[in-house]
Amino acid sequence: MNNYLDDLETITRDQRDAYQNKRLSEMVRLGFERSPKLRSILQDRSLKPTDIQTVHDLVKLPIISREQLVDIEAKEPPYGGLADPNAFIERIFISPGPVYEPHLGSDDPLWARAYKAAGFGKTDIVLNAFSYHMVAAGLTFHGGLNKVGATVVPSGSSATQQQVQLIKDLNITGYTGTPSFLMAIITKASEMGYDFARDFKVKRASFAAEPLQPSLRQRFETEYGIDTFQMYGATEVGDVAYECSAKKGWHLCEEVIVEIVDPATGEPVKPGELGEVVVTRLNHIFFLLRFGTGDLSSIIEEPCPCGRTCLRLSGIAGRVGDAVKVRGMFIAPSQVKRVCEAFPGLVIQLVISRSGHRDNLTAKLDAQAAHFLGNEFQARFEKNFQEICTVKLDRVEFLKPGSLSAETKLLVDERTWK
Ligand SMILES: [Zn+2]
Repeated sequence: MNNYLDDLETITRDQRDAYQNKRLSEMVRLGFERSPKLRSILQDRSLKPTDIQTVHDLVKLPIISREQLVDIEAKEPPYGGLADPNAFIERIFISPGPVYEPHLGSDDPLWARAYKAAGFGKTDIVLNAFSYHMVAAGLTFHGGLNKVGATVVPSGSSATQQQVQLIKDLNITGYTGTPSFLMAIITKASEMGYDFARDFKVKRASFAAEPLQPSLRQRFETEYGIDTFQMYGATEVGDVAYECSAKKGWHLCEEVIVEIVDPATGEPVKPGELGEVVVTRLNHIFFLLRFGTGDLSSIIEEPCPCGRTCLRLSGIAGRVGDAVKVRGMFIAPSQVKRVCEAFPGLVIQLVISRSGHRDNLTAKLDAQAAHFLGNEFQARFEKNFQEICTVKLDRVEFLKPGSLSAETKLLVDERTWK
């Protein structure tokens, strides 16, 4: 059983190039008419819409990073002139930054390719533990599961005890969410006296938003009988790639054009070489071309035994810049700087470590002034941090005055993914 969502997944590479080039030139033509921002990007470079006909022409355009997207949208909310102002937009998602993202409508198979490849289908009842609040995650993963015929339980970030209850009462057969949260649910089930493999019916899991450590994958598959799959995307551009049953690389979705580029120059690197993942989602509402994800990966060109003909990503090797993902949420240096703005003179360093299967976030503060000490200050700092960075701090450490300086690295990622 190959689990293809549609015939696009098995067309020849020449056919795919022709299909994607046609959609790309159509998107640029429409975008030039409807998006003031795309028009100005082209005009600033003396380009006409017809100058972007193929994937290889994209290099003529600038890469837009997440930080730049925040700036573009902040100057002209909500979409910075990147969206068609007359398009019907069913939902608007909000991610930290803030970035406002128009939902691209139900004709886009968003995440359905990933779930189909993982074997989800009509007989499945799936626990969706992605957040449904503000961000695109919960609802878009939900939509992808519905498209392959699965029933979805929108459990979001409910407490683990309640998730265990749902798995038991609703005969849940699948899970989607982060790997660390599934492990937390399994641990809770064990505390409640259940044997997860024997007492429940969860047979497969599709993960996103956090790397799946090989050691954890092995535990899920051998100890608990859960077949595991990885999905990869970005909130600004939706799904990008997914694992098939071969589990050797992630197939690129048909709706995206992915370039792997040298982060310093924006020029494509050779297949197999590591570079930044740059994504253009083919659509007719949001004209964000060449979104720089900041993730590092490389392209696998060899054919896959599953029969899909699209190229694969080799996984994510890390981040281009200093920004890091903590428990599936992105923390950018700009956000940390914003936290500090509320406390003039405060110097901080954020350290991300990992114990077991959980990310730990520690803020080290250089307490140069007495008013930066005390419980009242710490509570205010933690609240401010969580509001801006949307991730909760695990620890706050006060360092000796002078330990940190303005030159100190803001974010230190001590995690290893082995
Ligand atoms: Zn495959």
